[in-house]
Amino acid sequence: MKDKDAGNPPTPDWALKYRKDYHAYSKGWFIALILLIPAGLVVGALVSGKYTWKEGLGSGIFFAVILLLLMLNMFRNMDKSWKGRVVAKSTKDIYGTRTAGRRKKRVFLKTAYRVEVRTDAGRKEVVEVHKGAFPLFQEGDELIKYKGLPFPDRMLHPGETMRMCLVCGHPFDAGASECPSCRFKYGDTSLNSVST
Ligand SMILES: [Zn+2]
Repeated sequence: MKDKDAGNPPTPDWALKYRKDYHAYSKGWFIALILLIPAGLVVGALVSGKYTWKEGLGSGIFFAVILLLLMLNMFRNMDKSWKGRVVAKSTKDIYGTRTAGRRKKRVFLKTAYRVEVRTDAGRKEVVEVHKGAFPLFQEGDELIKYKGLPFPDRMLHPGETMRMCLVCGHPFDAGASECPSCRFKYGDTSLNSVST
């Protein structure tokens, strides 16, 4: 264990397995796409003649770099591990711009449901959760983020029946051994999700 991991929750074996599978799956897609996108753009250049094959290859490499950065950023977020408590909840409407002719139009993209956490180490973390799981969170709730998983585990209050899936972030019955949204099996994960 490295020094920077000191005080962080230990990574359960099933989370490591999920991480390994997920990395292999993402890398497979990435390799397929970095071969296909530039090749497609080069072929597109030769067929359409609207742009040169060099321009096609250049755009293809540009897309591949963006894709690589997105993938690495996702891996980095998944690899965070911390323990902390909810200090605030908020929603934010996210807008983008769409160009219609000469005019730029502001378009609504989505509402982000954010849970703000103060970690035991004193850092601030913002977790974006699904709309359905948002009402589960209350100020003071204890969360544990394991390395390798997209979402933190929210410790249940005694008598509570709904929990949030650590893989897809949707709420589901705490007694179920499988998440109905993403089909991840919790059977052998031995999670102790009850708040003390
Ligand atoms: Zn799920």
